[in-house]
Amino acid sequence: MLNLESEPQATSQALIPLIGLSREELEAELKAIGEPAFRARQLWHWIYHRGTRDFQSMTSLAKSFRASLAERYTLDRPVPSSDLKSVDGTRKWLLRLKDGNEVETVHIPEEDRGTLCVSSQVGCTLTCRFCHTGTQRLVRNLDAGEIVGQLMLARDGLDDWQTGQKSAEGEDNRKISNIVMMGMGEPLYNFDNVAKALKIAMDHEGLSLSRRRITLSTSGVVPMIQRCGAEIGVNLAISLHAVRDDLRDELVPLNKKYPIKELLDACRTYPGAHNARRITFEYVMLKGINDSPAEALELVRLLKGIPAKVNLIPFNPWPGAPYECSSDAAIQKFSDIVFQAGYSSPVRTPRGRDIFAACGQLKSASEKLKRSARDAIAAKELEAAAAEV
Ligand code: SAH
Ligand code: SF4
Repeated sequence: MLNLESEPQATSQALIPLIGLSREELEAELKAIGEPAFRARQLWHWIYHRGTRDFQSMTSLAKSFRASLAERYTLDRPVPSSDLKSVDGTRKWLLRLKDGNEVETVHIPEEDRGTLCVSSQVGCTLTCRFCHTGTQRLVRNLDAGEIVGQLMLARDGLDDWQTGQKSAEGEDNRKISNIVMMGMGEPLYNFDNVAKALKIAMDHEGLSLSRRRITLSTSGVVPMIQRCGAEIGVNLAISLHAVRDDLRDELVPLNKKYPIKELLDACRTYPGAHNARRITFEYVMLKGINDSPAEALELVRLLKGIPAKVNLIPFNPWPGAPYECSSDAAIQKFSDIVFQAGYSSPVRTPRGRDIFAACGQLKSASEKLKRSARDAIAAKELEAAAAEV
């Protein structure tokens, strides 16, 4: 059993984490220890452009400055408690946070890009019926450092930091070229921390991810959609999943608060939504529930006037889930109808199902289960998943 009080590292508990501070906050920290503002810029470069993990390696900074940084601050990232790789190359880290809670981060490599799926909360307070994360009881918001820390940890693990020189192919061959806020949690229920973390990720003197390469997915927190566009300005994805309120009330209970019409009205006025930058509508394909041709036609009718594309997600099973995935034929038919109406309608290829990393399968065992019990559950889940793929 870990007893922090008797651990030699106990003093490191008092160090202030720098990851997750905005530029202004970093400047204020340095000002408080008597350093000029331009030092913050240098430090920012080391932390977020180079990915340097210890102050001693920051060779452009004076030795005495490095020493005083090391006395007060830490660049710790969340610690991976497991690191799984799927047969298809998808990688999933289970991350241990300071308070012992855990969240998951998933990297999905593709031919022309690499996408990191980032969590915004431990668990989720919303209880969408098809989503494994929604069954997790313990929920808390992640802070900005824990959110941007997922990106840093993934760049560490994938050896994806810029070393100063640009590669011959340019920057786009990065292993992480895109971010989707589609991990655990509802990002618009943790708006301030998500916005702060994404601003750090977008800073062009640091992690430097373009807002066009970041997508935030929401189950439909209508009052926050406008702010998301105005203050963060990233691509928006809406978890629609049903075209009638009675069914959506059941699948996405938040619909009772913010019904389809209000949600679509918020999309119509989403800042920055136009043809070059359409809103993605995610639609999970549930056998016999929401997958009929009539529903595809109704979807097309509802989307009229919204610069939209549709992403069909084959339902990813998890133990005890009350649904099955639609047949390939039903998914294809649905996709064809949407496509013929002029909307792009790709079917999302499930990735990382064997390591339980696919959409809606994320659930950390943060319910204070003993490790042995947790391992037994994980082994069972893996078995079940392997049988299902
Ligand atoms: N909470 C946010 C973002 C995380 S979920 C949201 O709901 O939008 C990312 C996507 O996976 C959402 O569209 C979600 O509805 C979908 N999803 C959840 N469970 C799923 C499952 N079992 N199979 C397929 N997709 C699922
Ligand atoms: Fe939460 Fe999204 Fe899962 Fe719904 S689908 S329970 S909003 S994580």
